[in-house]
Amino acid sequence: MSTYLCFTIPQQGNLNPMLAIVQELVARGERAICYLTEPFRQPIEETGASFRGYQSHLNSGPDMTTQNAGSSSNGARFLQFSEMLFEDCQQLLPMVLKDMEGQEPDGIIYGQSAPWGRMLAKILHVPGILIRTTYATNEQFHLFPDVITQSSLPEEAEALAQRRASLNAHVRQLCMDYAIEPFDFLHIFSLAEPLTLMMLPRAFQYAGETFDSRFQFVGPCILPRHDATPFPLERLHNQSVLYISLGTTFNNRPDFYNECFRAFADFPSLVVLSIGKHVRLEDLDPVPENFLVHAVVPQLDVLAHTSIFLTHGGMNSTMEAFSFGVPLIVVPQTIEQTHTARRVEELGLGMALDAEHMHAETLREAVNTVVHHPDIRLRVKHMQDTIANAGGVQAAVHLILNHMRTHHTVNA
Ligand code: UDP
Repeated sequence: MSTYLCFTIPQQGNLNPMLAIVQELVARGERAICYLTEPFRQPIEETGASFRGYQSHLNSGPDMTTQNAGSSSNGARFLQFSEMLFEDCQQLLPMVLKDMEGQEPDGIIYGQSAPWGRMLAKILHVPGILIRTTYATNEQFHLFPDVITQSSLPEEAEALAQRRASLNAHVRQLCMDYAIEPFDFLHIFSLAEPLTLMMLPRAFQYAGETFDSRFQFVGPCILPRHDATPFPLERLHNQSVLYISLGTTFNNRPDFYNECFRAFADFPSLVVLSIGKHVRLEDLDPVPENFLVHAVVPQLDVLAHTSIFLTHGGMNSTMEAFSFGVPLIVVPQTIEQTHTARRVEELGLGMALDAEHMHAETLREAVNTVVHHPDIRLRVKHMQDTIANAGGVQAAVHLILNHMRTHHTVNA
């Protein structure tokens, strides 16, 4: 039996694939210890893993629920996010090392936004296994092509460059303290491990064929969820369903939800709308009769009955939809989701819309176009098969166990 330390950030989209992998590892007799914030204790413990709690600086950061929150640019927001990650790093390294005194783990599994996982693997000299919930980056495709210089406002560029230099100076110092190699903290999304598990199939990755064998495209790792969220699933049976959600983070868009009411009030379908935890139902316009509006819905169960999904294009939502053979209309809220919107359109799996210029008419037209497009449905079916063949959580765990065996053999 091996013991794995598992790290990600307190955000559902980052956590979900890790939960699926951890649950399968535990089912195969391995031991997992997951570090995260208290609200995630229950889903973690339900996988059979142990939970260790900490207070994350990400919870007290800027409003991440809208893309253009305040007056800051994408570059400024990305830098602020990186600074908060670094604060978590400073807190977690000594905490985990103290916890581990006298009981070294065998491996570390960490999500792409948790660089402390990478650092701890180096400090403890154990394999680090990276879970990438979004696109990988190489010379052919850059997820965030220097976001600080390209996405900052001219008047803030110099100040941001100085903040970046200051952040990296602190990173260098921290790395020196622990005798590991320093790295540019704003490049964490370009890093890879000898085993990097990709939560999308190679066919969906931009320039997929150019990624070497470190990148294993196992596709989405989806945990069947025993969702306790009260939701009248029986209302979805035997009728066509349009599902709308902007995910769990960038979803503070009452304007968008009201526009959906206008667009689909007369639509001959049931419309399920997930508005997230930041918008209150009473702050929206009156809800049309054919709508079911909830803060959170059991998304996998809903997708099983959905004909079309109007989504922000988060990678989990995108992959979950294709796993159920559901075509997409993507209204991206972030840089990453803009890549997904473009990819969905380029592969003929749905349509992309511009989230900033959203009108009822545009939404209705897009849904009608996708509904009446048999080729889109065929291509989505093909993507569904591709995802099934990528192997998902079984393939991910098989690769992890093999990787650990190889490591033990080499170090024996
Ligand atoms: N989700 C859900 N119910 C909801 C909205 C979202 O279960 O009402 C889940 C969804 O199934 C997915 C995750 O939350 O696994 C959202 O992840 P994604 O990467 O799509 O977007 P993010 O929330 O990270 O922007």
